[in-house]
Amino acid sequence: MHTCTTDIAIVGGGLVGASLALALQPLARARGLKITLLESQPPQADSSTKKTWQPSFDARSSALSWGTRLIYEQLGLWDKLSSHAYPIEHIHVSDRGYWGSTQLDHREQGVDALGYVVPNAWLGETLWWGLQQAGENNTQVLAPAEIDQLSFPHPDQTELRGRLGDQELLVKSRLVVLADGGRSGLKQQLGIADTHYDYEQTALVANLRLSKPHQGWAYERFSEEGPMALLPLDGDQMALVWTRQGEEALMLADLPEEEFLARLQDSFGKRAGRFLQVGERFAYPLKKIRAKEQVRRNLVILGNAAHYLHPVAGQGYNLAIRGVTSLAADLEAAARQAEQEGKNFHPGDLAVLTAWQQRRLPDQDAVVGFSHSLIEIFARKQPLLGHARAAGLIGLNLFSPARRWLAKKAMGLEI
Ligand SMILES: Cc1cc2nc3c(=O)[nH]c(=O)nc-3n(C[C@H](O)[C@H](O)[C@H](O)COP(=O)(O)OP(=O)(O)OC[C@H]3O[C@@H](n4cnc5c(N)ncnc54)[C@H](O)[C@@H]3O)c2cc1C
Repeated sequence: MHTCTTDIAIVGGGLVGASLALALQPLARARGLKITLLESQPPQADSSTKKTWQPSFDARSSALSWGTRLIYEQLGLWDKLSSHAYPIEHIHVSDRGYWGSTQLDHREQGVDALGYVVPNAWLGETLWWGLQQAGENNTQVLAPAEIDQLSFPHPDQTELRGRLGDQELLVKSRLVVLADGGRSGLKQQLGIADTHYDYEQTALVANLRLSKPHQGWAYERFSEEGPMALLPLDGDQMALVWTRQGEEALMLADLPEEEFLARLQDSFGKRAGRFLQVGERFAYPLKKIRAKEQVRRNLVILGNAAHYLHPVAGQGYNLAIRGVTSLAADLEAAARQAEQEGKNFHPGDLAVLTAWQQRRLPDQDAVVGFSHSLIEIFARKQPLLGHARAAGLIGLNLFSPARRWLAKKAMGLEI
């Protein structure tokens, strides 16, 4: 049996769990706290194998907002990440079958880029590198460590049980953070219910090669069957997120390459050039899920385990990382206050966690609501609504304050 005692145990070393372990470094260093990150998949930080942790760091790419770039700068990771972060300089938004369209431009917002597209595998490698830089003094990564039980035997302590490789594992911790993703079994074990909405849609994700360089353009094209996004990668490559009804998406995923490219071209048009090649295609069923409780004494739920949203606006991780940094900041503030008052700091203090969650809810409501309303508005089949949307997009194009508002939402700067 492998046993360890820690101050903060993070279950799940995906995008969110790994980001939290890094954001907690100043607190851990200043207060001598121990952080333990537990991930069920084996770590593989070797780029020559082209493999990193699954499923967070899979073949997808993520659009990171300008706000998330600022967070990566604070974490000291932006210099490394930026070598494979492709800037979104302009966004073209259109509605298939209608004339309206609008364009957002980074110059109008006074920033270098509206956001950046980063392959998830590179995000994973950068976060993993950051954890290695943090050293083992206060941060321990246990992988492959699968946690299957969580209990609260004492008011001040939690117990996690599972396996570390082929050994039994017991972790005693003062605070547990569940960052174990959208299918969090531990959350269910605790009886924490979700609100759940099934879009009955699937996102088809793949990388494409095009006949011309994208020059920093991203495209968001709405249609009654679902939205489609093309995001700039290296040179003439773009990341595709194509939302379709479940069965159609699976059929598209299995089509021979030429037929798939022809269907895609037909659906998207020629604005970005001709689609020449498509890489491996992956399918993600789309749901809106929110945990009804996100904190308890000695417990926090973060990331996909707390809120899983439609990727239409590319905001899932951007939202989660704001939760990550604000949690780290609130724990630091609570530790300082405890010191000033001559009290012991407990990272699982319910009052601190509840106050943090209350402050996070408006951001979560706004982002989940914004992503959901885009789907609702653009999925309606009434022709009149189609014209209204077109008029809306044309109006946005003419009216720069509205365009700036939309750009700020996309940049993760205005909630
Ligand atoms: C198609 C698609 C496109 C997207 N595009 C964007 C985008 O452009 N921009 C954006 O901001 N967001 C985007 N998102 C959202 C983003 O991918 C998620 O917000 C992010 O993956 C959440 O990460 P997570 O760490 O919470 O969960 P996950 O990625 O699911 O990671 C959970 C981790 O926990 C581990 N784990 C699970 N159970 C256990 C256990 N019992 N013990 C130990 N470890 C465990 C898993 O192995 C995994 O590594 C997109 C999502 C989809 C589906």
